[in-house]
Amino acid sequence: MTHPVLTALGLGAEESGTYLGNGEWSPASGASTIEPVNPTTGEVLARVGASSQADYELIVERAQAAFKVWRTTPAPRRGEAVRLCAEALRTHKDALGSLVALEMGKSKPEGDGEVQEMIDIGEFAVGLSRQLYGLTMHSERPGHRMYEQWHPIGLVGIISAFNFPVAVWAWNAFVAAACGDICIWKPSPKTPLSAIASMKICNEALRKGGFPDLFFLFNDAGSELAQQFVDDRRIALVSFTGSTKVGRMVGERVARRMGRSLLELGGNNAIIVDETAELKLAIPAIVFGAVGTAGQRCTTTRRLFVHESVYDDVLAKLVTAYRQVETKIGDPTDPANLMGPLNSPEGVQAYLDAVEKAKAAGGTIETGGAALTDRKGYFVLPTIVTGLSNDADIVQHETFAPILYVMKYRELDEAIAMQNDVPQGLSSAIFTTNLKRAEQFLAAWGSDCGIANVNIGTSGAEIGGAFGGEKETGGGRESGSDAWKAYMRRQTNTINYSDALPLAQGIKFDL
Ligand code: NAD
Repeated sequence: MTHPVLTALGLGAEESGTYLGNGEWSPASGASTIEPVNPTTGEVLARVGASSQADYELIVERAQAAFKVWRTTPAPRRGEAVRLCAEALRTHKDALGSLVALEMGKSKPEGDGEVQEMIDIGEFAVGLSRQLYGLTMHSERPGHRMYEQWHPIGLVGIISAFNFPVAVWAWNAFVAAACGDICIWKPSPKTPLSAIASMKICNEALRKGGFPDLFFLFNDAGSELAQQFVDDRRIALVSFTGSTKVGRMVGERVARRMGRSLLELGGNNAIIVDETAELKLAIPAIVFGAVGTAGQRCTTTRRLFVHESVYDDVLAKLVTAYRQVETKIGDPTDPANLMGPLNSPEGVQAYLDAVEKAKAAGGTIETGGAALTDRKGYFVLPTIVTGLSNDADIVQHETFAPILYVMKYRELDEAIAMQNDVPQGLSSAIFTTNLKRAEQFLAAWGSDCGIANVNIGTSGAEIGGAFGGEKETGGGRESGSDAWKAYMRRQTNTINYSDALPLAQGIKFDL
C-alpha cells in the first residue's frame, strides 16, 4: 500500500525520476530502479525509475534551448516565476514537509522548516530579481564610461545530499532562475521522492503561470550519469553539496574542464563555552546542534570546548538533557518526537565504528554509544564522548551521526586554536557574556570558519546570509547576501563617446 504521505502529494508506488520538460516525465519503469527506504521501518517507500543516457541528453538539449529564451526575459519577470513557485510550496508545505520527514528521517518540524526555507529563499530571489546590481567606475580616459554588468551564466547543475533533500535545491535553483539560468537537478538516490514532489509542485506552478521549463530533474541509480554531468562542458556551473570525499573529485574534474563549481562539503563544527556563558542559552543550543536531525546536518555541533571552571557543570547538564532526548526518539513524522533515525544502515555502521574508535583511542562514553536494536529502522542513541584530545583521529573526522566530543580548555586562545585545528571550516560558535572574548572569536585571528556565531549554536542558518565554509568544506557560498554572483558572469564594459582613441596607461601608438 502506498504510504499516505506520498498519496497526499499525488505520488504513487511507481514514479518516474526524470523530468524531461514540456510537462513530460520519462516512463517510470526505466532501465534501473531506485528504491528509497523509510528509515523508520526499513521498508521501501516506492520504486523510482532511474534516468537513462537518452533521457540525460534530451534534458541537456531542452535546457540549452530553454536558456536561449530565459536569458532574454527581464529579470523582474523571472522573479515573478520564482514567486509562483514559492506560493505553490506554501500551499503544499505541510504535505511536502511530511514527505521530507518520512524519506530523510528528520523530525516533522524540521521537515516543515526545510520547506519554509524553500519559500524564504524563493521570496529572497523575487527581491533579488530587481537588485542584480553592477558597479559604475570612473574611466581614466576622457570621454569614456566604464561599468560592469551581470549576465546569466547558462546551465546550472545541482547535485544534492540526502540530509537536506529539498532546501539545498531551492537555494540554488530559485536564485539561479532569478539570475536567468536553467537548472538541472540530480538529487541523492536516498531521497528521490522529495525531489520529484518538489519538481511537480514548482513545474505545475510555472506552467499554470505561463512560464517555460526552468527546472529539470534526473535520477541516477549509480554515479555514472552524475560523473558525466560533472564532466559535461555544457554545464557552466556545478553546484555540489555532499561529502568532502566526493566533492573533492567533483571540484577537480570541473576545474579540469575550466568550468565553475560551487562546493558545499562536510563540516566539523565546534562550540566554545567560556566561564561567563549563560548556560540557559548554551545547553539547549548544544543539544539541538548535536542531536537535531540525528546529527545529520552539515552544521551539526560535533566538538565542544568548555572552560575548565564550568566543565563538570556543563557536562552534567548535557547528560541530563541527552537522557530526556532518549525518551523522545522515534517516528519522525510524529511531532512529539525530538529525534528520528539515521538515514541508512551504513549511517548506523559509521556511528558504531566511530564509537569503537573513540573507545580504542581512550575516550569515555558519558551517555549513548549504542544502536537501538529493540525496534525496526536505523535508530541510535545520541552520544557524548569525553577524554579525547582534539587531534585524535576520530575527532578530526566528520561522522554523520549524533556524536559529540567534549573537551576542556583553560585559555581562550587555546580553545580557538583547537576549534580551528581541523581540516573542515564550516560553522562555529562561542557562548560568552564577555564582549572582548566575543570580538576576539570573530576577529581575523579568531574562528576560521565561514559561519561564526555568538550566543547561538552552529546549526540552523538563516537564508539571508551567504552560507558555506572554508578549507575542506569547499569554499562555496550559497543562499543570501551576494551569493547570487556565482550564478552569473561578470562583464566589464568601456564605452568611448569622445572623438579620440586614447589608450589605457597613456600608451602612445601613433600611426
Ligand atoms: P555524498 O557525497 O555521498 O553524496 C552527495 C551527492 O553526490 C549525492 O547526490 C550522490 O548521489 C552524489 N554522488 C556520489 N558519487 C558521485 C560522483 N562520483 N559524481 C557525482 N556525484 C556523485 O553525501 P551525502 O551522504 O548525501 O551527504 C552527507 C554529506 O554532505 C556530509 O558530509 C555533509 O556534511 C555534507 N553536506 C554539506 C552541506 C553544506 O552545505 N556544506 C549541506 C548538506 C550536506
